[in-house]
Amino acid sequence: MLEIKNVTKSYKMGDTVVHALKDVSITIEDGDFVAIMGPSGSGKSTLMHLMGLLDSPSSGSYRVNGREVSGLTEEDLAILRRSEIGFIFQQFNLLPRQTALENVAMPELYSQARPDFVLAEKLLQDVGLGHRVGHRTNELSGGQQQRVAIARSLINQPRVILADEPTGNLDSKSEEEIMGILKRLNAEGITVIVVTHEDEIGAQAKRRIRMRDGVVSSDERLQPLPARPETVKEDGSVHDRLFRLRQVGEHLRQGFKTLGSNKVRTGLSMLGILIGVAAVVAMLAIGQGAQEAIKSQLSSLGSNLLVLRSGNARAGGVAQESGARIRVMIDDARQIETELPGVKAVSPSVSGRGQVQYLSKNWNTSVTGAGPSYESMHASTPQTGRFFTEDENQKRARVAVIGTTLVRELFGEGVSPIGEMIKINKVNFQVIGVLPAKGASGFRDQDDQIIVPVLTAMYRLMGKTALDSVEVEMQPGTDMDGASDAMIAMMESRHKVAASQGTEAFNVFNMADIQAAVSSSSKTMSMLLASIAAISLLVGGVGIMNIMLVSVTERTREIGLRKAVGARPSDILLQFLIESVVVSAVGGSIGIVIGWLITIAVAGALGWATSVSLGSVMLSFLFSAGVGVIFGIYPARKASNLNPIEALRYE
Ligand code: ADP
Repeated sequence: MLEIKNVTKSYKMGDTVVHALKDVSITIEDGDFVAIMGPSGSGKSTLMHLMGLLDSPSSGSYRVNGREVSGLTEEDLAILRRSEIGFIFQQFNLLPRQTALENVAMPELYSQARPDFVLAEKLLQDVGLGHRVGHRTNELSGGQQQRVAIARSLINQPRVILADEPTGNLDSKSEEEIMGILKRLNAEGITVIVVTHEDEIGAQAKRRIRMRDGVVSSDERLQPLPARPETVKEDGSVHDRLFRLRQVGEHLRQGFKTLGSNKVRTGLSMLGILIGVAAVVAMLAIGQGAQEAIKSQLSSLGSNLLVLRSGNARAGGVAQESGARIRVMIDDARQIETELPGVKAVSPSVSGRGQVQYLSKNWNTSVTGAGPSYESMHASTPQTGRFFTEDENQKRARVAVIGTTLVRELFGEGVSPIGEMIKINKVNFQVIGVLPAKGASGFRDQDDQIIVPVLTAMYRLMGKTALDSVEVEMQPGTDMDGASDAMIAMMESRHKVAASQGTEAFNVFNMADIQAAVSSSSKTMSMLLASIAAISLLVGGVGIMNIMLVSVTERTREIGLRKAVGARPSDILLQFLIESVVVSAVGGSIGIVIGWLITIAVAGALGWATSVSLGSVMLSFLFSAGVGVIFGIYPARKASNLNPIEALRYE
């Protein structure tokens, strides 16, 4: 039973107030068939919307089966609407890309979270469309479409059907069919309320109400109201615990379908997030690969390595700027080797560039003078030939161990350079070994170098009397900081450096410190990558928000319809949120695949060991889905807040 008491509805139009309904009181009994008639603008639709719970009165009371509805929230109104009322519109309001069956089952998404296609098919058969269930609604005639709409209005087994000019757009034959169906439904016990301006239709009702200027001008009973038992219907708000989960699943299915039906736009809206995620995945993988390469090269040097160099202090004290710079001498290296506790090996070292000549070929390369311990300290046991000995170093022998790049450039493929004579800065050297290939480290080709005995390098090649550095390998487990302090103290006392100059006279580099520095710089790098990622995802997110806003505007009527058939604001919010998450997550997934392909290509081209980690893939995916949620919220809220009547009228 619907009881309207002293209801007024007024609209403000600028300064004037339009009273669409003025103090209307009507009671509609269960099982009645009511025609509401009247000229345009008399308030018929306003009354209809109030009865259908799509709108609320400005004042007065409205009770549905004894329950006052004026204080109910939008969510509660939607629940009541879908359990009590079925709507039929003049424009049919079907979803054009879906089949008749899907249209009929659609309201169940909000009541059961799962379409019941068996019931939907039965309802279509009841309205004479059993042979059209799989057709899209835009392939059906007007009369057929209205019959689909009637079947849809029945899916939640409502007690009342509200029909707004249901035959207004139809030919007379279809009109008869539709009226026949409505009368049959009424005979089965459903209350039918039809708004119409056609007298033939009004004459078929059991009760005819005429409206004029917002008031009821006449109210006639044309046929007696049959006595019928009170029907009891359960409250539509009972949901089991899995309701939302099923609804999410159904929204996901429909979301993929909606997006699939507009592939170009969906693709374009994914583009931002796709590029962002691809870039992140590729950069992380390549960055990680580069880091690992640097780390493995550093660790091949061993973390027990100390490198001694002279500092900036000058002999004779700070005051005497003219004093010669304190230098690390070959004897210093000897003393470290014999006297510093915990030393495993020492290699004195000088370095420079050299012009190398073999027959007519020339090559400029880096030349290092080193002790024989270099071989073990740098994992440089020659792949062919041998390393030089301490004896050769003492004799300042002109022997050289060369890198593979030099072999290639000077000797060519397939020629053994061992025993050949080359000239380094015009001095003759015999090649005695070829260094193992090490590959590139950053921009430096580690195979483009020559190692010669340090004394030969100093006295025969570079004319140096002092060392550039001394590399000291300590026994494993040595306290490196202590050893480095002891080494500096030893040097200071040897060179009689005053305490005031002390810290500047010598520097000791600790390989472990350098490794720490590298890992901290790689952290900075990661931060940089993360901020690039954040920016690209932000841009992608804004793109998605844009498209979703357009989609909400485009689908305003659809949203109005969904609300009319019982979708709560939260249902609509969920639906649009899921759509934007689908866009961003699919975009993100494609981005991951593309990023991974880029990584493989870069790894192949540069010969770097790159690796896409599962962690970065998961992170990218979760991030892109998160972007979908964050940037989808605004459009989804906008959709869920739409007023159903205005949305239904939207052109
Ligand atoms: P009918 O359905 O009989 O044509 P309506 O109920 O649509 O009449 O309208 C009744 C009156 O209320 C009309 O004067 C109309 O202009 C006014 N009206 C209806 N809806 C609105 C609205 N949303 N804003 C302002 N005025 C409205």
